[in-house]
Amino acid sequence: MSQATAADMSKTEKWQSLDAHHVHPFTNPAELKQKPARIIESADGVYLTDSDGNRILDMMAGLWCVNMGYGQPDLIEAAHTQIQQLPYYNAFFKTSTPPAAELSAMLAEISPENFHRTFFCSSGSEANDTVLRLVWRYWDLMGKPDKRVVISRKNAYHGSTIAASSLGGMDYMHKQGGIIPDVVHVDEPNWFAKRCELGRDIDRDEFGREAAQAIANKIEQLGVDRVAAFIAEPIQGAGGVIVPPDTYWPEVKRICDHYGILLVADEVICGFGRTGEWFGTNYYDLKPDLMPIAKGLSSGYLPIGGVMVADRVMETIAAGGDLAHGYTYSGHPVCAAVAIANLKLMQRTNIVDTVRESTAPYFQQKLRELGEHPLVGEARGVGMFGALELVKDKHNYVRFHKDVKAGDRCRDFCIENNLVMRAVGDAMVVSPPLIVTREQIDEFGELAWKCLDLAHDALT
Ligand SMILES: *Cc1c(COP(=O)(O)O)cnc(C)c1O
Repeated sequence: MSQATAADMSKTEKWQSLDAHHVHPFTNPAELKQKPARIIESADGVYLTDSDGNRILDMMAGLWCVNMGYGQPDLIEAAHTQIQQLPYYNAFFKTSTPPAAELSAMLAEISPENFHRTFFCSSGSEANDTVLRLVWRYWDLMGKPDKRVVISRKNAYHGSTIAASSLGGMDYMHKQGGIIPDVVHVDEPNWFAKRCELGRDIDRDEFGREAAQAIANKIEQLGVDRVAAFIAEPIQGAGGVIVPPDTYWPEVKRICDHYGILLVADEVICGFGRTGEWFGTNYYDLKPDLMPIAKGLSSGYLPIGGVMVADRVMETIAAGGDLAHGYTYSGHPVCAAVAIANLKLMQRTNIVDTVRESTAPYFQQKLRELGEHPLVGEARGVGMFGALELVKDKHNYVRFHKDVKAGDRCRDFCIENNLVMRAVGDAMVVSPPLIVTREQIDEFGELAWKCLDLAHDALT
């Protein structure tokens, strides 16, 4: 499989021996000791190149973030120019920089109509920490300091800091360190998982309404005087690209309005074109109060995130005086300059229109074709992301035993075949750069089918 030369091998081994000192995120150190990390050395467009010279199709856009693909000259140039002009200055105590100012104005222009303000930070996790502080601050200023509880969903991903992992609904993360008080979780609108649990078909629309009703039930149970906000991704990404039934969001919106609680739409993955709209909020017409953003904001070239604050919430926060919150790198000028270049490139190339009208429908059709594979129980997705659920019996909603690790096995075949497709449990998830072409989607279809075949042979 590898076209490695002796010289390349020694290079790989060199990096791997140095990497023994690296504590990796979301990795089992024992497994890494057995089989060291693959070293990615360079990338261009939608392809990565590893230290053995393999060319790999990156259908995950890094980690859901390299939306405009690798090697974009505009982004590289923007970083180069800004780092010479002003590599750093902060946004504390009534100062700003041209990139931070310009980026905040651009975001006001492209976002839904009731958003005109952004607080900057360096990641999605920091954005969600900021969300929690803003939500609490808001209710305090509204004279309702008892409204502290944030409702989230099981299997949600909102980041990895203490606050963000608490807001997230990943049990295996909560098991390492617990969760902070005042965060509770309700069931996710995962139609496929529910059908597998029951071993039979259920009505999709009805299930969507029930999943939304769980939020109202939770509010009633806690007492509305204690509930501050509901947080959710428009479409769960890291949870396995879970597309809610069409009945879900209208009902959730109605419930948040009815009880007067804040709605936080985590746009860290859905934002910046992933759904074929600028924001997932546009796709579902959510009208949220806060929108954490990151990832695609800079196409991952430099770390930058933020929280977009709706006018109504900002009015209250602004009336409260000093905001005692900020990060050294809030509005970092080089990161902001790259984000501006990224957004301008997206606008100039009309990438969001291309995704919505051309490449995403083609990509979704390809996913549905892969759904015909005997190993795939469901193919789903919206815009430029989706998932393939691996099952033991596709006609009766029977999953593999979790010890079989079907998803991980399939992912290993993908790695061997130079395709990046991630496994979330037994869901194979895909989220390619938005610039992926029809030809590259075809290439993905062929490679993915081959890897599904290999996994099918290995698992049955
Ligand atoms: C990735 C992600 C985060 C966390 O972002 P980091 O930059 O990794 O801290 C938060 N929310 C969602 C929806 C994400 O996908």
